Amino acid sequence: MIVSVNPYTAEEIARFEMHTDAQVDAALDQAVQAQKAWRTTSFAERAKLVRAIGTVLRARKSAFGRLITAEMGKPIAEAEAEVEKCALNCDFYAEHASEFLADDVIGSSATDSRVVFDPLGVVLAVMPWNYPFWQYFRFAAPAFMAGNGAVLKHANNVPQCAQAIADIVAEAGAPAGLHQTLFIPSSKVERIIADDRIAAVTLTGSTEVGAIVAAQAGKALKKQVLELGGSDPFIVLADADVAAAAEVAVKARFINVGQSCVNAKRFIIEEAVADAFVDAFCANVAKLKIGDPMEPGTNIGPMARADLRATLHDQVERSVAAGATLRAGGAFVEGPGFTYAPTILDHVTPQMAAFNEETFGPAAAIIRVGSPEEAIACANDTEFGLGAALWTRDTQKAAVLARQIDAGAVFINGMVASDPRLPFGGIKRSGYGRELGSYGIREFTNTKTVWTG
Ligand code: NAP
Repeated sequence: MIVSVNPYTAEEIARFEMHTDAQVDAALDQAVQAQKAWRTTSFAERAKLVRAIGTVLRARKSAFGRLITAEMGKPIAEAEAEVEKCALNCDFYAEHASEFLADDVIGSSATDSRVVFDPLGVVLAVMPWNYPFWQYFRFAAPAFMAGNGAVLKHANNVPQCAQAIADIVAEAGAPAGLHQTLFIPSSKVERIIADDRIAAVTLTGSTEVGAIVAAQAGKALKKQVLELGGSDPFIVLADADVAAAAEVAVKARFINVGQSCVNAKRFIIEEAVADAFVDAFCANVAKLKIGDPMEPGTNIGPMARADLRATLHDQVERSVAAGATLRAGGAFVEGPGFTYAPTILDHVTPQMAAFNEETFGPAAAIIRVGSPEEAIACANDTEFGLGAALWTRDTQKAAVLARQIDAGAVFINGMVASDPRLPFGGIKRSGYGRELGSYGIREFTNTKTVWTG
């Protein structure tokens, strides 16, 4: 049984039966049949479906937003923005896929030689709860445009979102079976990865699970894209606009109640501006409204599950025990749900949990450094390599330093965020492969050379 719990009230709101092995087999069969036909369709036909998915999402944005908030607790305004972004991604790929996947004619000894991009087949998507719509549609819109089918194993704390996704794709007019939502425990994923009917795997989730799924996909020799954890640095150099940085820092850390892979997690500040930054940051964080995520003005609702809050609190407590200074928060918020007070830890060092573990919730770590060189070394002193933000008024210096940061993306004078137009993904233990942009859509294609004598 899969149980959906509202993290603000801690009450059960829905439950779903798990699919039997026979139902899973039937779903895979259907997906393969549907994809075989789908791969022969034109870009125009695929775009019709993908645009229609966007239309369904927009038409019921507030209902889907409420569903997301009820199941995983993010503030309602952010949930609606997530639905809108999914629709934007659908529009983007509907419009640009034909150009991204156009034949690449390359001169050779042949009369004609070119590279074409064929679909791989049915892709298994193992997805997390933190952006329960976005993570799926970020993958699915380009996957459908490339001619692939999709089987979704969603996180088991968001089954209503998983069901809604299946309904949306069906309502948009997808051929039966092209998308399948499976209600299965994670222990059944290996068998599906190994199944011949699955061509490839995409996983968005933790680094621990990424390593497990990568090994299973490796054993089966299946292509994989892994979008895993992060501990993004947010570097503020002495010549930065400190007030602007301290304002953006709040959103960068606390959006999605701090449960985003690309939240800024380690704030690496040059000593000369550290006091000014920390004071301004604390003052801005104090203005965050904590409460019911269904209320439009709420900034901080519950974390998604009780165990996630307990893990974060343990990381905060261990960091304080190791010498970090608690400037804000550090405690559960009263109530039946899983809310954690927005937390700021100052004087964090690389030995502390708040630095060397991914903190997946509303807790910011401040690290003070003596120079830009030390800031970059500190930023890179992590097993992760997803995103990074760099604040300085010297854009020439920023361009040089950006190349020295080990990350899949560096945002200068801004916060890291995904954008359908730009590739997204990590290095090191944050994963491999890319989603979004022209790069992402090619991940699940066969780059095929066609040579004509
Ligand atoms: P998670 O625990 O790794 O779960 C992700 C998915 O994997 C869920 O569907 C989960 O199913 C499944 N899973 C768990 N154990 C598995 C196993 N042994 N074999 C196969 N599948 C398994 O991650 P999460 O807590 O949902 O999400 C938070 C993590 O995701 C954070 O580390 C975050 O940084 C990362 N993330 C990365 C990105 C990115 O783009 N790089 C984006 C968002 C989140 P169950 O629910 O059934 O356990």
